[in-house]
Amino acid sequence: MPVDWVVVGLDNGGTTNNGTILDSSGRFLLDQMAEVPSDVREGPDKAIASLVVSVEQVLGITGVPITAVRAVGLDTPGPASGDGVISSKGATNFGHAGWRGFDIRGALAERLGLPVIYNNDGNSAALYAHHVRFDAEYGERSSVAAIVGTGLGGGIIEGGRVIKGAAGMAGELGHVPIPLDGLLAPGQPTPACNCGQSGDAESVASLTGIQNNLLPYWLTRYEGHELGGLPIGKAARLVRKYGEEGDEMALAIFRQQAMALGRLFTIAANFLDPDAYFLGGGVVEAAPHFRDWFFAEVRANTVLREEQARAAEISLVPDLDMAGARGSAYAARNWFIAQGQPSWPGGVLSPGRRDDHDHGEPGRLIALVVVPVRAAGRKAGALAGADHMALARHRERQGA
Ligand SMILES: [Zn+2]
Repeated sequence: MPVDWVVVGLDNGGTTNNGTILDSSGRFLLDQMAEVPSDVREGPDKAIASLVVSVEQVLGITGVPITAVRAVGLDTPGPASGDGVISSKGATNFGHAGWRGFDIRGALAERLGLPVIYNNDGNSAALYAHHVRFDAEYGERSSVAAIVGTGLGGGIIEGGRVIKGAAGMAGELGHVPIPLDGLLAPGQPTPACNCGQSGDAESVASLTGIQNNLLPYWLTRYEGHELGGLPIGKAARLVRKYGEEGDEMALAIFRQQAMALGRLFTIAANFLDPDAYFLGGGVVEAAPHFRDWFFAEVRANTVLREEQARAAEISLVPDLDMAGARGSAYAARNWFIAQGQPSWPGGVLSPGRRDDHDHGEPGRLIALVVVPVRAAGRKAGALAGADHMALARHRERQGA
């Protein structure tokens, strides 16, 4: 089948980049991971070169010429701004000093000569889950995704769009404080999070939460447990296996995690009332009997009103290893389509231009104009139209 235009999706991780290609009809041209080393530890220069290699790799595999690429979607682990500027305080995956305050999105756009649309990895995975579930209706639906890993990532999608917030920090579900009454065992210390808060969702529902908070406490309740003889980091990674085998202490730990996730979804229900709640992470890949038990525990702890329970669903994030790259590709495709000019030659778009989140003063003024239009209806076309108008006016202003 001839290809008229495509977008590339890139998922940048601590060790590898995964890439994919999505065509104009919404079909992925790769059904497997396409990985190259990400070289992020060697600093921005090497890492940007690796992202370019990743683009070349997926084009090579599929035989698509670079002239067909209209935009590139990119995700990285956080913390970074909504436009892809890595935190000036550094970040776990970006320890090299060159990363501090580095604009990874802008640098890749400049190197490729193509628009690059940025999201953090949690938001990309959330966008992917949203598209898989809602397909052609994606622009009219909303969802919340919680993905349990080392931390607790995720994102919020409203009307098919990632909610980024004013500073790029919306959808940080892990750092939402949750009620702890009835969750903690009598005498159990309040769990602490790396972000400085205590009792947020990540302090319980993450591998870090197991290592720092849950396991140290539960080992005092199960003296002589095999895991007590191991270094805590190693023991924390084994808790899931013990859970799968029905170990009492491991199940107590996962019950607390499920309760935390259910309470988080309950907060989401009252804040956002989404069409879907997605749950992802290592536990989704666990043995089916254990995964089903955990999922049922999360559901049992998610308090929905009767009307909400009828309207919404709780489900699992599919294909987690490809979710970042694929979500990034959807972000790029949605951005390009929102321009209203699917046949627009790539060269007309300035390579360094930012995505539709602009934090400068003109952007703020335009945002005020757009808000009433957004509030007027949930139709996908209405949103795209409003944003396109705002972008066009923005360009006019900048050109003036
Ligand atoms: Zn936190």
